[in-house]
Amino acid sequence: MGRTVVVLGGGISGLAASYHLSRAPCPPKVVLVEGSERLGGWIRSVRGPGDAVFELGPRGIRPAGALGARTLLLVSELGLDSEVLPVRGDHPAAQNRFLYVGGALHALPSGLRGLFRPSPPFSKPLFWAGLKELTTPRGKDPDETVHSFAQRRLGPEVASLAMDSLCRGVFAGNSRELSIRSCFPSLFQAEQTHRSVLLGLLLGAGRSPQPDSALIRQARAERWSQWSLRGGLEMLPQALNTHLTSRGVTVLKGQPVCGLSLQAEGRWKVFLGDGSLEADHVISAVPASVLSGLLPAQAAPLARALCAITAVSVAVVNLQYQGARLPVQGFGHLVPSSEDPGILGIVYDSVAFPEQDGSPPGLRVTVMLGGSWLQTLEARGSVLSQELFQQRAQQAAATQLGLKEPPSHCLVHLHKNCIPQYTLGHWQKLEAATRFLASQRLPLTLAGASYEGVAVNDCIESGRQAAAQALGSEPNS
Ligand SMILES: Cc1cc2nc3c(=O)[nH]c(=O)nc-3n(C[C@H](O)[C@H](O)[C@H](O)COP(=O)(O)OP(=O)(O)OC[C@H]3O[C@@H](n4cnc5c(N)ncnc54)[C@H](O)[C@@H]3O)c2cc1C
Repeated sequence: MGRTVVVLGGGISGLAASYHLSRAPCPPKVVLVEGSERLGGWIRSVRGPGDAVFELGPRGIRPAGALGARTLLLVSELGLDSEVLPVRGDHPAAQNRFLYVGGALHALPSGLRGLFRPSPPFSKPLFWAGLKELTTPRGKDPDETVHSFAQRRLGPEVASLAMDSLCRGVFAGNSRELSIRSCFPSLFQAEQTHRSVLLGLLLGAGRSPQPDSALIRQARAERWSQWSLRGGLEMLPQALNTHLTSRGVTVLKGQPVCGLSLQAEGRWKVFLGDGSLEADHVISAVPASVLSGLLPAQAAPLARALCAITAVSVAVVNLQYQGARLPVQGFGHLVPSSEDPGILGIVYDSVAFPEQDGSPPGLRVTVMLGGSWLQTLEARGSVLSQELFQQRAQQAAATQLGLKEPPSHCLVHLHKNCIPQYTLGHWQKLEAATRFLASQRLPLTLAGASYEGVAVNDCIESGRQAAAQALGSEPNS
């Protein structure tokens, strides 16, 4: 009888793992188990008036690097090339990003010349921060918070305005708690290897082998900064689902896994609400905290390491305005915590992807809310109503972008515990988990946003690596 691999969680990580398992030369029997009624996890696109597309989760994927290229390869393999909407390098959404500080929008400097010009909200040209970086000795700690790393190497202004905002934009998190080693491994490694982040970035980390395809070559030639799909990013999980079904993968939806137990012969029993499955290997692509609650007593040390990986919530408010214009053209702006503890930033969706504006076209922006403001409300057990988020988002759009008329369309979603937080010492939790899995020879592989990167590219790569491990092979580059 052939082997059975059960994949837990039908977000992009679990779908990617199932995809790579199904394409092995001698594929095992694959069962993908998703707790909710739909696949895709946080990737969700909905249609609004005039067929406009509203992203409730991710809205753009970066094509850069080996991981970006592999995702583009996947897109081509799924036959989605003609659906890709690129943001080319010469487009304002690729070139302009803003910070909202002191009640005004400030363009972040771009290009080498920008470093020598005064660039408010920073009091001096960023060249000076660069000079400090080049002359600062290498750090000695095995990990450091993003804030402390940035303050030590680039000075207090870059730490409290730029890196604070970046942590809010990517992780909806606090730069004083997040780990530089786990959140921005390329910066951490650059310092370790070259003593300086700038030198490291200039000299490069050595190019890893990259796949090649017509789409990847096009993305490189046109210097895409990101891309989406015509009908929204949810087209990607939908296409994966179609592919998996055609390859004979069993996809179970609406079946939350409620426990795992180890059988005498080293196989798993996976408990569902109304039955169970047997598996030779389990790939977990559910959040670490969820897996921690499913593990049997023999795996208590692993469960302890996993439940220490927490996540924060984000409220996503999609707004559409008729006949309105933005004061600036760009990808969007970020808001440092010192300016507003609750507004993480605003994405100008219509600038990057006007094709999704609907007919007649309306201006789409998305306000992201979270940070200490939301954490405090959650901790107090306050009523988190749709009206509260809508009002706060509309107010931010009015004050920060001059969008004072009421929106013609509004969607409000509170995504609870949606972004894992790689806090100081996250690497030790991963090491403890890896050590336990190896020492116990458990047929279990971890994938997903909880571990080594939250971006869609990272999640797809984690699924690919997990599939290779379950198959007992090295992943192809
Ligand atoms: C608001 C927001 C905006 C983002 N923007 C971007 C962006 O622009 N670009 C980018 O690259 N990334 C972005 N990200 C990050 C990225 O979208 C996520 O990190 C990624 O989609 C996570 O995928 P995943 O499969 O690891 O986890 P999830 O999407 O969380 O999937 C896990 C799945 O497991 C299922 N599950 C949970 N418990 C069980 C159980 N007991 N049994 C069975 N199934 C279960 C869940 O229902 C879910 O479907 C964003 C994330 C959010 C929340």
